[in-house]
Amino acid sequence: MAAAVESLDTPLAEDAVLRVTVLATCSCCGAILREGDRFCTGCGTPQTMEAAAERLGDLLAKDAGIARDDPRLQAALARVRNEEPEAWNALLKKIGPRATA
Ligand SMILES: [Zn+2]
Repeated sequence: MAAAVESLDTPLAEDAVLRVTVLATCSCCGAILREGDRFCTGCGTPQTMEAAAERLGDLLAKDAGIARDDPRLQAALARVRNEEPEAWNALLKKIGPRATA
């Protein structure tokens, strides 16, 4: 079984890379994305780090029961972003584009 998979992988790899550059697909559900899509039309997964940051803000605002544009939320997000960039990026990766690690 493993040998069969390996023998398939090598010849397909280059072709797969080409197809990915032409047709971007969702890293979560595999849906084909149109150019400029910031969120997957299939499952809603953010496809850019900006979209992920936006989604994170939405989730936090909803969770805290405050408005998305509440200055306290903006300040909290900015603080995490500036003071804990690693934690921030880890969070974005969790909800955002998984392929771009
Ligand atoms: Zn998707």
